[in-house]
Amino acid sequence: MTSAPRSGYYGDFGGRYVAETLVPALEELERAVDEHVRSESFQQEWRGLLASYVGRPTPIYRADRLTRDLGLELGTELWLKREDLCHTGAHKINNALGQVLLAKRLGKMRIIAETGAGQHGVATATAAAMQGLPCDVYMGVLDVARQAPNVERMKMLGARVLPVDAGSRTLKDAMNEALRDWVTNVATTHYCVGSAAGPHPYPLLVAEFQRVIGDEARAQLRDQVGPPDAVVACVGGGSNAIGMFRAFIDDPVTLYGVEAAGEGVETGRHAATITEGRIGVLHGARTRVLADEFGQIMEAHSISAGLDYPGVGPEHAGLAASGRATYLTARDDEAVAAAYRLARSEGIVPALETSHALARLPDIVRRERLRLGRPPRLAICLSGRGDKDLATLLERKP
Ligand SMILES: *Cc1c(COP(=O)(O)O)cnc(C)c1O
Repeated sequence: MTSAPRSGYYGDFGGRYVAETLVPALEELERAVDEHVRSESFQQEWRGLLASYVGRPTPIYRADRLTRDLGLELGTELWLKREDLCHTGAHKINNALGQVLLAKRLGKMRIIAETGAGQHGVATATAAAMQGLPCDVYMGVLDVARQAPNVERMKMLGARVLPVDAGSRTLKDAMNEALRDWVTNVATTHYCVGSAAGPHPYPLLVAEFQRVIGDEARAQLRDQVGPPDAVVACVGGGSNAIGMFRAFIDDPVTLYGVEAAGEGVETGRHAATITEGRIGVLHGARTRVLADEFGQIMEAHSISAGLDYPGVGPEHAGLAASGRATYLTARDDEAVAAAYRLARSEGIVPALETSHALARLPDIVRRERLRLGRPPRLAICLSGRGDKDLATLLERKP
């Protein structure tokens, strides 16, 4: 099954809805995927740093205490792919490092990025620092306030943090500002997009860098126990999920993405773009978005800044439309409870983003049990660690 028959499209989704001035840069980037990213010398450099600097391969861990504490049937296997153990604490460094190396090969010696939770900003600032490039990070003022430790980390790494005081003052506004900067400085600047979203070829480029997660998980499970029955990941823009899904898409494996239901989808305060959204254009791609009946983008709400985005990568919109992947939702309170559960059962404090995927595990196990007639084996992307969320987790302690 191929998910991108038309270049830059995933079924009816994707494309390149941008200002004319950006088209040459996006075309250059598209050519660079074949000429550089897939070349042996690039792969050697990037994979070398993934091993020596990021800490790959990350382990895969069978969480039997979690299985027991969730009251799941004996024989159920929950395998956690430990992206929380990557340098900087989440999967985002895989992509940030890849894009910074690519920028250098394209002769673009200034890096810009947008960030919500601050995780992508930290990952980009990290990659830029270790490659000796200047880095500007756009961040909504609301997120600057919510994510103070990550703002300080970016500054420590030598990046400039540029607060964006427009719109909802969150990720979508930061993304707009970064696009504006890029239009102006495209000859010298690379825009390091943080998720599998945005105009073609970004969704493809980011998926290319994040599929290392799924490729590793698939090989690790094959070597240790055999293939999984289902793969599970949380979905913000969709990069850790597509990184898992890509590797399993041709296998007889159910793919589950979990979106943020915020305070509950019925309250309207959520970030469940695929489940509750409409078709629209956001940040240069046709995808599913949270919008009113006139197509105006609405604010997203989630306890986790990394899922608080009113769009989603177009490949997920396509996978949802074709039925190849299934998308569920989890509320704020369910995510917090799931974070405490994993911490107490396994000694791992997960990111609030990841906790949305963890919250739906009992339901996913039930669905797969029904489908298979036996307890299932699940591979779950533990996309990041929860240190950045400690204040929120303590405040919301169940
Ligand atoms: C940013 C982030 C996410 C959401 O981004 P995706 O592109 O959907 O993966 C999920 N988990 C963690 C830990 C993050 O930092």
